[in-house]
This record gives sequence, structure tokens and C-alpha cells, in this order.
Amino acid sequence: MNNTENEPDMRHKRNRIIAVVAFTGIVVAAAIAAAQFSWFSGRKPLTPKYQSKLRLSDIPFNGQQAMEHLKALCDIGPRCTGSEGMKRQQEYIINYFKQFDCKVERQLFDYPHPLTKEKTRGCNIIVRWRPERTERILLCTHYDTLPYPMNDKRNPKGRFVGANDGASGTAILMELATWMEKGQTAINPKYGVDFVFLDAEEFLFSRTGRFFVGSEFFASQYAANPQRGYKYVKGVLLDMVGDSDLQIYYERVSMSWRDSSPIAREIWRVAARLKVKEFIPTTKYDINDDHIMLHSRGDIPCIDIIDFDYPYWHTMDDVPSNCSALSLAKVGWVIAEWLKETK
Ligand SMILES: [Zn+2]
Repeated sequence: MNNTENEPDMRHKRNRIIAVVAFTGIVVAAAIAAAQFSWFSGRKPLTPKYQSKLRLSDIPFNGQQAMEHLKALCDIGPRCTGSEGMKRQQEYIINYFKQFDCKVERQLFDYPHPLTKEKTRGCNIIVRWRPERTERILLCTHYDTLPYPMNDKRNPKGRFVGANDGASGTAILMELATWMEKGQTAINPKYGVDFVFLDAEEFLFSRTGRFFVGSEFFASQYAANPQRGYKYVKGVLLDMVGDSDLQIYYERVSMSWRDSSPIAREIWRVAARLKVKEFIPTTKYDINDDHIMLHSRGDIPCIDIIDFDYPYWHTMDDVPSNCSALSLAKVGWVIAEWLKETK
């Protein structure tokens, strides 16, 4: 017997065992990582019941154009309250709406910078379509971006452009105005529409800062002026509506308000008729968002349309490539059709 004769075979076997153990380790690690990822994002694979077969060409609302707005806003860069990027974004939005027969207002407010306590200027943009109409529908979104991507594991002080969280709602409202101007939405003539871009939703440098400063100011000003001569009868807040993997559940706080839940039911009914199955008619999250200020301070019936299953939320990966024209088209189309139908 010669040990040396057997030795290569033994080494080969040992290597195989090491390889199998290593492979198993990688598989287990990958499984744990995947489980953590899905736990973090709250994502479950959707059944086909909640995935529409619609393509961009099936949808009359121009999702591609909305996506162009989303990209243009992200190209400006970070757009947090009081920043240079925010100023450029305001010019972009205001110049855009000037082409329409609308009244455009800047609603300015000052409040202390969360870190330096210096006076910081915020600005809500209010675009009034058919300003003479006294019963009005409020369509709003926040348009400021979080200063830093605080959920980013690699670099929580990195660059944040808020493609979904900030730009998506803004882009849809901009394209919706074009749609309305072209007369593609024959809205009940008793209603006017206000497009409102809310600032300082999240001018925050820690998780415990003051949210919703712009919506608080907007709602308080509205409530403080009973002589204003108009009333918001229905309100819709759009927030994070561009995720390429769209899933929009009823938001629980909106559904808990008796004056607001009918708005959600109307909109989800429209979505079902249009076969936009990503509007899922069950509740999933309670979201603390601008709609709470609008409802509590302004007494405005208002719902939040939000896709909170977005793994890139508050990370550097909230970028246009994680959003899609198709998702913007689906949401924009549902809102546009709802505007036509709502009584
Ligand atoms: Zn955010």
C-alpha cells in the first residue's frame, strides 16, 4: 500500500467537501439576506391578481412625458427646502404652469432650520385651475427632498435625489395639467382644481425632526381665512407613486376618516374599471403624511395615495431607474379618469 498513491484522491475528496460546505454557506447567507431584504421592504411577490397587463401604449395618459419631468427634476439634483436645487425646481414648475390658463401663487413661510435654527424660507406652490369655481378639488404632493438618504446603509450622508419620494407625484401633477388643458378631462363644471406642491415635508436631519411644515402652513392659512370664498371638497395627496414595481394599498388613516374614505373607494373603483390592478383594495399601512395636516388643521377631506413598498425609500437608490413611465401612466390615468367621473 502506498499512501502517496491515494493522496491525490483524498485531497480531491477533501476539496469537494470544502466546496460543498462553502456552497451551502453561500446559499444560506443568500437566503438570510433575501429574507432580510423582503422584511425591510415589506415586499411580497404579488399574485397576478394585482398585476395588470397594461402596456404604456394601452394608456392614454402620457407616462413617458411624466417620466421626462421626473428625470428633469432629478437632474437638478438634491432639492431640499431652501436649497439652490429647490430654487431651480421652483422655476421649472412655475415656468411650466405659466403656459396654461392657471393662476400660479407662491405661498412663502419661514421657520427655523432644524440644525442651525437660522430662518429658512419654505415655499408651497399653488396652481389654481378655474380659480373662479368655489367648490375645489385639491391635488397635492410634496416636492422637497430629504436632505440626506438616512436609510442608506453604505452612506447615509450621500446624495439623495428623491425620484420616487418627491419627483413622482410632482411629475404626475405636471402631466395631468397638460391633459386637462387639452380638454381630455371633462371635469364636472362645478369643480375647480388646485395643484399644490408642498414644501418642507421632510426637511429633516434625524428621524425625530419636524415633518409636514409646508402642509401645516397651507392648511392653517386655509382654515384661518373663512372669507376665502371657496372650499376644498375632495383632496388627494400623491406620494411615492412611481415605483416600477407598483403596489398601492388603501392607506389606513385615510380610510379611518368618514369624510375621506369615500374618495379612496371612488378612486379604487375607477382603477378596477380601467384594470389598473396595482390599486389593491385592502389596507396595509398607517402612514403619517401631509394628508394628516390637511385633514386636522384644514378640515379638508383628503386621502394619501402612496406605495410604501419601495426598498429604496430614503436611500441613494431612489433614482429614476427604479421608477417607470408605466407606473406614472397608471396612476395619472386613474386620477384623470376619476376627475372626469367624480360627482
Ligand atoms: Zn420621504
